[in-house]
Formats: sequence, C-alpha cells, structure tokens
Amino acid sequence: SLPTIFVITPTYARLVQKAELTRLSQTFLHVPQLHWIVVEDSPHKTPLVTDFLMKSGLTYTHLHVPTAKDRKLQEDDPSWLKPRGVEQRNEGLRWLREDRRPQPGEGRQRGVVYFADDDNTYSLQIFEEMRSTQRVSVWPVGLVGGMKYERPVVEGGKVVRFHTGWRPSRPFPMDMAGFAVSLKLVLANPDACFDGEAPMGFLESSFLKGLVTMDELEPKADNCSKVLVWHTRTEKPKMKREEALQAQGLGSDPTVEV
Ligand code: UDP
Ligand code: MN
Repeated sequence: SLPTIFVITPTYARLVQKAELTRLSQTFLHVPQLHWIVVEDSPHKTPLVTDFLMKSGLTYTHLHVPTAKDRKLQEDDPSWLKPRGVEQRNEGLRWLREDRRPQPGEGRQRGVVYFADDDNTYSLQIFEEMRSTQRVSVWPVGLVGGMKYERPVVEGGKVVRFHTGWRPSRPFPMDMAGFAVSLKLVLANPDACFDGEAPMGFLESSFLKGLVTMDELEPKADNCSKVLVWHTRTEKPKMKREEALQAQGLGSDPTVEV
C-alpha cells in the first residue's frame, strides 16, 4: 500500500479562511492516502472549521492550540516580524508522535510529513514526488523570498547549495513548502520541532538541523528543476462598504457563513 502523506496545516480565523480551506481541501481530495492534520490557532475548535472538516470528505484530525499572546503577530505588525503557525505545526508533530508511535507487534510506520500553509498553491504532482521520501526530500518553491523561485541546487544527484535571495548561509535556507520528512525520522527524533524564538528566516532550519545534513537531502521534482508549489498569498478583502452599511443597520446577515 502507498505510504500515507500526513499534511499539517496551521490555520486561523479570518475572512478568507473558509475560501482557503476550500481550495486546499479540494486539492487534497485528488491525493490518494492523505491524512490532513488541521491545527487551529485558537483556544478552542471553531464551529466553522469543525463543520467544514466533517463535510470535507477527507481523512483528517482536528487539533487546536492558541499562539501565545507575546508571540502573536498584531494587526499593525509587518508580517515578517514573528514566525506564524509555529505552535500549531509543533502540535501536529506532537499528535503524530503520540498517535502514530509504533505499537508492539506492528511493522514500521510508512508515512511522510508535509507542512502545508493554508494559502499556498499545491500541484498534485508534488504529493507524488514526496511520497517516496526516505528521510528528507526537497524541491523548489515558486514566488517566495522576493524571488521567482527558491530551490536547492543539485549537482551529481546531491544538493550542494541553495538558490535563495537572502542569507544563503542559513543551515537550510528553504521555505516550509519546499520539504517533506519521513514519519519514521519524525518518530525517531522526538525532540525535533520548530523554534519560535529562532531568528528571522531560521524557522525551517531549527526543525531540519535536528534531522538531516545537506548531503542527505533527497532532491525531487526532476533534480529540483520544476516548480510544483507556490508561496501564494491572499489579499485581505476590503470591508469598507460592509462597514458603511453596518453603520446604517444594513450590513450582511451575520448568520450567513462566509
Ligand atoms: N497562521 C496562524 N496564525 C496566525 C497567522 C498565520 O495559524 O496568526 C497560519 C496560516 O493560516 C498559515 C501559516 O500559519 O497556514 C503561515 O501564515 P501566513 O500564510 O500568513 O505566512 P506567510 O505567507 O507570510 O509566510
Ligand atoms: Mn502564506
């Protein structure tokens, strides 16, 4: 049977949340043997996400953990100030280590772990590329880091450096969307997690440096020559007219879920 792909997605309540989750879930519906781990940045599971997942047709696990107040990005903060989704990804890892730890008499766990933010764009092909991950597999990410793409540079089948616009000296100068880890490696390294206190740009490195070295990385997507995932970002919808109408008592019906 195919190795299961465990996709960990941090998500938080905002106007575009349901739209993002709809787009994502309808991609995942095309991927065989996928288990979606949705982690809400919230002190409780929200009805919107609970109901959405129930109707999604996907195999899923619904978790939640609020981002600590001092870690949370404030409305007026620039988006690069603090890393986002850190506690949520770690909660997903915690669940995997608890729920998928090898049971007596059970064979080795065949699975792959991927961190999929709710606003990116994923080609179906990337899931088939990552399914054969032995330890850590890597590939290019489009539209990220102020570049057309960032990618590992492959020579003789090995990753030798990284094409990135910024601080190439980081241990793993890669976006979250550009790698997957085998479940076995995640279970074998119970302390590997994302460090929310890591300096800017070092979040991915904080996790990966406990798991692999550069020469062990497995290049996918045709030796990292194809872009199969994009770090797209969704524009915040303007609510000027909504607010104007609300002031007159003519706002949209709040019982309609958007
Ligand atoms: N996220 C979250 N809480 C927040 C902000 C973001 O859980 O307060 C999630 C978000 O839904 C996404 C991930 O963390 O899945 C990365 O956030 P975002 O896409 O805003 O980051 P960027 O695109 O700027 O890297
Ligand atoms: Mn994003």
